[in-house]
Amino acid sequence: MSVLTSSSSSSSRTLKIGILGFGPFGQFLAKTMIKQGHILQATSRSDHSQLCHHLGISFFREEREFIEADNDVILICTSILSLSQVLNNLPLHSLKRPTLIAEVLSVKEHARNVLLQVVPEEMDLLCTHPMFGPESGKIGWQGLPFVYDKVRIRDEATCSSFLHIFQSEGCKMVEMSCEEHDKIAARSQFLTHTIGRTLSEMEIESTSMNTKGFETLVQLKESSVRNSYDLFSGLFIYNRFAKQELQNLELALEKVKQKLLQKMEEQSSNESKL
Ligand code: NAP
Repeated sequence: MSVLTSSSSSSSRTLKIGILGFGPFGQFLAKTMIKQGHILQATSRSDHSQLCHHLGISFFREEREFIEADNDVILICTSILSLSQVLNNLPLHSLKRPTLIAEVLSVKEHARNVLLQVVPEEMDLLCTHPMFGPESGKIGWQGLPFVYDKVRIRDEATCSSFLHIFQSEGCKMVEMSCEEHDKIAARSQFLTHTIGRTLSEMEIESTSMNTKGFETLVQLKESSVRNSYDLFSGLFIYNRFAKQELQNLELALEKVKQKLLQKMEEQSSNESKL
């Protein structure tokens, strides 16, 4: 693993970027890319043409036209659950020249494996995970981690220009294998979302006597449910380390419960001796 800071130098040029999947996260990334002067095009399952028009992005309803639109980078921002289906239906063999295929899915081994299967050999592959979203990154990306794995890069200049988008916003650039990412993310991001969803199932609400700790829990619940359920379930289904962490969480809760019950027994036996 290597970490670069925003002061690390790298060359950059204006890129033509085609976003595949113009949902909440694709839209969020697009705004910063436009601000930086990159030229954007997009395609998606739903019709986002009005929003794209408003943002100055060309929106293609036809995937073939999108693929043939001469992008330097195709950035995959579709849901984890739909990745295989979306990529298998994409006419990638119609790409007219070597192109960087990059993606931002929150699980990395699955994304890398699907890309290696379906993307033509002459295309470069970059797997990434910006560790922030529309909420946590709304006032800027300074200091927020950006994880990436250069899976198959021959055109270093284009890859470096793409990474520069995040580096120049002050992201903490973390180069890491897809496997290492998934192992760490299962024990951090998946755990965070699972606890947030659990609190939501419990219907916890803010009260008139919140402690700071409880306020943190309410915020965690609210930020977790703001993400789609497709995203949350994708973190579980397509990260092979997540099942173990879910088990660890269940075991830990049981252990805490047993310790409390044991203490309660000790206490009542002490009181009965008085
Ligand atoms: P999401 O629910 O994970 O994905 C929504 C996107 O997937 C939309 O573009 C949607 O297309 C597309 N989609 C869903 N089902 C589809 C299907 N069956 N066929 C074709 N397209 C389908 O929400 P998101 O927050 O925008 O996340 C997008 C990606 O970014 C995910 O892979 C996620 O893991 C990653 N990511 C998200 C965050 C975050 O904070 N949100 C942070 C880092 C990475 P339409 O809009 O056209 O319907």
